Amino acid sequence: MEITFLGTSSGVPTRTRNVSSVALRLPQRKEIWLFDCGEATQHQLLRSDLRTSQIRRIFVTHMHGDHIFGLMGLLASCGLAGTVSQIDVYGPPTLDRYIASCLRWSVMRLPYKLQVHTVEAGEVFSDGEFTVTCRLLHHRIPAFGYRVTESDRPGRFHVEKAQALGIPFGPLYGQLKQGKTITLADGRTFDGRNFCDPPQRGRSMVYCTDTVFCESAVELAQQADVLIHEATFSHQEADLAFARLHSTSTMAAQVAAFAQVKLLFLTHFSARYAPGNPVQVEDLLAEAQAIFPNTRLAHDFLQYEIPRGEDAPQDNPAVAIAPEQGGILLKRGEETTVAVAQKTAPAIAINRATRQQMQQKLGIDAATANAILERRRQQKFTCLEELERLYPQVAWETLNVEF
Ligand SMILES: [Zn+2]
Ligand SMILES: [Zn+2]
Repeated sequence: MEITFLGTSSGVPTRTRNVSSVALRLPQRKEIWLFDCGEATQHQLLRSDLRTSQIRRIFVTHMHGDHIFGLMGLLASCGLAGTVSQIDVYGPPTLDRYIASCLRWSVMRLPYKLQVHTVEAGEVFSDGEFTVTCRLLHHRIPAFGYRVTESDRPGRFHVEKAQALGIPFGPLYGQLKQGKTITLADGRTFDGRNFCDPPQRGRSMVYCTDTVFCESAVELAQQADVLIHEATFSHQEADLAFARLHSTSTMAAQVAAFAQVKLLFLTHFSARYAPGNPVQVEDLLAEAQAIFPNTRLAHDFLQYEIPRGEDAPQDNPAVAIAPEQGGILLKRGEETTVAVAQKTAPAIAINRATRQQMQQKLGIDAATANAILERRRQQKFTCLEELERLYPQVAWETLNVEF
């Protein structure tokens, strides 16, 4: 299971980031599954080492253009390639009508079978080796997060052990392999589990976009190997995130921490954090890492092979101690769910309330208040005394500022 990011920008493409798409390569079956298909995804595929002809399934999170405007072009090109026999597309209600309209009005005929599935929360695909489930996230229109889970594999069967004990070749080996207990003609019994290594845990990948912090993302991502979560905004833009129902870096990190995933990738960045701007994606990374250390930034063409079994990091040091960043105190293994939402909102609200109070008491505008809070976030203020010295006109002790 190898992930390739094909687009990591939100809304519009930038010079270095295309709009949303993630490819999951399953080498054992020579298939690629796509998650979202923003405009020019097929161009990105051409620039990658992925083969478009291997695309077998496309999972669409929601109907916003930055997630679907590349779909029809890609489907058309797959038809011209002449090597595709079937593509299954999964997505929210109205995706089927969108595709049907595009096919009709552009007079497009696909020479392969295109099957469009309307998803609901729950299982959307399963074939014994892989299961795909989805959950409704919290965005301005219905948006689904997806989880791909690989089935556990039976552990290695030690045939030499069975041979050494004189167990005759044949169907008995098959039974031992399955962990069953067998009895030989001479009366000896053997427990198959003693001949097999423990089963290898299947790998999993979760893709959550677009959404503000939500419980269903936490539930979908439980114990996943990799969580890809949108982080459209930095923590200081939490107001915007709530207004537009997108996530901040810290919301994504909180989902990762509560779900106890192994690795978090941030993606779907606002163009306002492009290189040269005052706040950049590296700042978003630092914010997220303060809550969930094993966080990485996605960028276009970044590839990540999900490690199997023992290669995978076993320990998840998800401990958030970043109150100076408006974060929340988390302990590993702490109870999750309902408490999360209740804890998240005040953490964000502190900033909002603080800024409003500062504006009133100082007679400054929102941008200046933000700048002061930003300095505090960057730990340039280490103590209340320093703030009092720099901004003596503020009655700091009456403000809701935590250090
Ligand atoms: Zn989007
Ligand atoms: Zn959206």
